[in-house]
Amino acid sequence: MSEHREYPFPEIDPDICKGCRLCVAACPTDVLVISPKLNSKGFHYSEYVGQGCIGCGNCFYVCPEPSAVTVYLKGYVPEEEVS
Ligand code: SF4
Ligand code: SF4
Repeated sequence: MSEHREYPFPEIDPDICKGCRLCVAACPTDVLVISPKLNSKGFHYSEYVGQGCIGCGNCFYVCPEPSAVTVYLKGYVPEEEVS
């Protein structure tokens, strides 16, 4: 069964994130938070609260770490489900 996403959402790689908080400050809907947990490099990483993302892309554009943030837009279908 195809998992058609109804809402946009960000995906943050916790081990690439350096916890600089730029994405948290740039998010217009305040749906990113700094985790109390540490990643493998000892940084408190950013994570999505799970709902409320509007897919604006701000977090992607402000992040200084290449490939730390991916934003999936509404209607995204996981690649393995595309035939
Ligand atoms: S895409 Fe926009 S609304 Fe969604 S988490 Fe990133 S900054 Fe926030
Ligand atoms: S902007 Fe990038 S490196 Fe900084 S906290 Fe957000 S995801 Fe982590």
